[in-house]
Amino acid sequence: MALNVVMMGPPGAGKGTQADRFAAGRQIPKISTGDILREAVKAGTELGLRAKAVMERGDLVSDEIIIGIVRERLGRPDAARGFVLDGFPRTVAQAEALDVIMSGRDPLVVVDIAVPDEALVRRLTSRWVCRACGANADPGQAGVPAATCARCGGPMSQRADDREEVIRERLRVYARDTRPLLDYYRARPTFRAIDGAQPADRVATALDAAIDDAARGARGA
Ligand code: AMP
Repeated sequence: MALNVVMMGPPGAGKGTQADRFAAGRQIPKISTGDILREAVKAGTELGLRAKAVMERGDLVSDEIIIGIVRERLGRPDAARGFVLDGFPRTVAQAEALDVIMSGRDPLVVVDIAVPDEALVRRLTSRWVCRACGANADPGQAGVPAATCARCGGPMSQRADDREEVIRERLRVYARDTRPLLDYYRARPTFRAIDGAQPADRVATALDAAIDDAARGARGA
């Protein structure tokens, strides 16, 4: 059975880091719509030009554009054995479209990494990212980010949308557009919620257990 995972949670919950680790461990691709958009902005493609201003004010790129990107990506051969979606879906319309894309495939396992708002603002204002390889500095080391990346030695900088006023807007958008998604998924037998306010390694252990348990349930084991 393919392991088709949707990783949910507010900005700063550690979704990206956890999704990276989980996908690498299970040898399935991590598909981050935020990463795809940031690549497009960097490359200056038409998609990037359209997305840049929307992203910089903390708003959402249109459902139509994002759904098209994900439909194409999930159709590639490397996603047939499973995938981890990070940052998608973010609206009920995107979740409905994903269900259509997934018809005839193994069921989605949906995990929500829950963290209170004030902890998120603290984490995000102290988040630094490597400009060369994209690695995050540990948000736990607030305020004193290393100048160079621990993984590749590249230069660290803050994301354009990690300024406090943009973060507050992203959290507002999350509460308005994305939190309702939890109700969309909560009743499914393959939905699991995780406490994201614990150290990253504990979150990782909880995630592994929750995803395996949900997948076992879906298989009818
Ligand atoms: P992320 O890295 O997931 O926080 O995404 C960064 C930004 O990209 C978001 O604040 C949105 O502007 C945009 N974005 C990423 N994923 C989506 C999505 N599923 N729907 C709409 N906009 C998105």
